[in-house]
Amino acid sequence: MTLRSLTPLTPDQAEIQRLARDFAQNEIAPRAAAWDRDSYFEPALVRQMGDLGFLGMLVPEEHGGLGLDNLTYLIALEEIAAADASAAVLMSVHNSLPTQMILKYGSAEQRRRFLAPMARGEMLGAFALSESEAGSDAASLRAQAVRDGDAWILDGTKSWVTSGSHAGAILAMVRTDSPGMRRGARGISTFIITPDLPGFKVGKKEDKMGLRASPTVQLIFDRMRVPADRLVGEEGLGFVYAMQSLEHGRLGIAAQSVGIARHALQLSVAYASERRQFGHFIKEFEGVQFKLADMAARVHSARALLHAAAAAKDRGEAVAPHTSMAKLVASETAMWVTTQAIQIFGGNGFVKDYPVERLFRDAKVTEIYEGTSEIQRIVIGRALTQS
Ligand SMILES: Cc1cc2nc3c(=O)[nH]c(=O)nc-3n(C[C@H](O)[C@H](O)[C@H](O)COP(=O)(O)OP(=O)(O)OC[C@H]3O[C@@H](n4cnc5c(N)ncnc54)[C@H](O)[C@@H]3O)c2cc1C
Repeated sequence: MTLRSLTPLTPDQAEIQRLARDFAQNEIAPRAAAWDRDSYFEPALVRQMGDLGFLGMLVPEEHGGLGLDNLTYLIALEEIAAADASAAVLMSVHNSLPTQMILKYGSAEQRRRFLAPMARGEMLGAFALSESEAGSDAASLRAQAVRDGDAWILDGTKSWVTSGSHAGAILAMVRTDSPGMRRGARGISTFIITPDLPGFKVGKKEDKMGLRASPTVQLIFDRMRVPADRLVGEEGLGFVYAMQSLEHGRLGIAAQSVGIARHALQLSVAYASERRQFGHFIKEFEGVQFKLADMAARVHSARALLHAAAAAKDRGEAVAPHTSMAKLVASETAMWVTTQAIQIFGGNGFVKDYPVERLFRDAKVTEIYEGTSEIQRIVIGRALTQS
């Protein structure tokens, strides 16, 4: 058995959790291993998720979404992640980054044009901040936009763009300051890029150890002409928008991590209940039970911290260091719990016939993207020490 979450759910939250769980277990889980093996992205999944409302969970009803709170969204996201971490990152990036950026900082026209199709799953969203030389130090990015009449000309290459090859709306951060007068983080602006723009190209697809069903690609902007009305918010505030959005995105990655860890725990309990050695089920050995107990304690701690941060955000409180704590704790939990799961499976944990090695591979990236664990510690440490 697995232990229930102690977060009190409203009837609506419980209903959405049930909907997400049924969808994840019936439509995604049976195919996740094959998608991982083939590094295959299933486009139909986007439409299915859109039809169920999972791609517009935080978008107000007036823009075609469900208008739900963060806690409900994260509860649903955990269910998707417990079936497939690749499907979860698609949902997390789409909901937390591009849709939120357009909703919060976009013009009325941008909201009208993009939010409804994004919420329905007709247009997938992506977020292009990182470059090959600008990862943790994202403000050092070099992609450049130069004003040309009623448009901007964009040049540069974005790296690591989740869903970038299938996205219809990519929120890209590029420099709009001039090479002669750099303004650091204040020289960066955000644009909505659509793949129909001349000069837009999808570059290399990464061959990853995990999240193999989530396409991660380079995007190349080659003298790409972007209409001026694609600028989001104010010129020079793009980096601020990106950082504020990532603060939200980190909750999504925490939910993804909890889902991966919970799945590994469930598989471990089941395996320990059927595997026999020395004439006993291995679950009868104290050494195995202690592992399961520690795994469960960490999964529940990570989820409790995540839900507390989400509930505080829903109350309108500033939660910056707590979102970093939730992401840090949950991602390190996912890595630790999946490592224990492989140990419990023994040799079977090390081969692809059993699912835990996929979970272990999928867990690793949660400690890396949307701010590495070191960057989360910097955010938390600064909050503790600034006077
Ligand atoms: C599968 C995947 C999907 C991704 N999706 C996206 C996406 O959709 N959009 C996007 O913009 N980006 C995306 N990324 C990029 C991701 O956000 C970066 O990989 C991440 O921010 C780390 O940057 P980096 O890889 O350049 O590592 P680096 O910044 O080079 O870091 C290398 C190491 O140095 C450490 N380090 C760096 N600076 C410090 C410091 N000041 N103090 C202590 N340690 C430090 C890091 O913690 C890390 O351990 C994705 C990455 C992956 C792997």
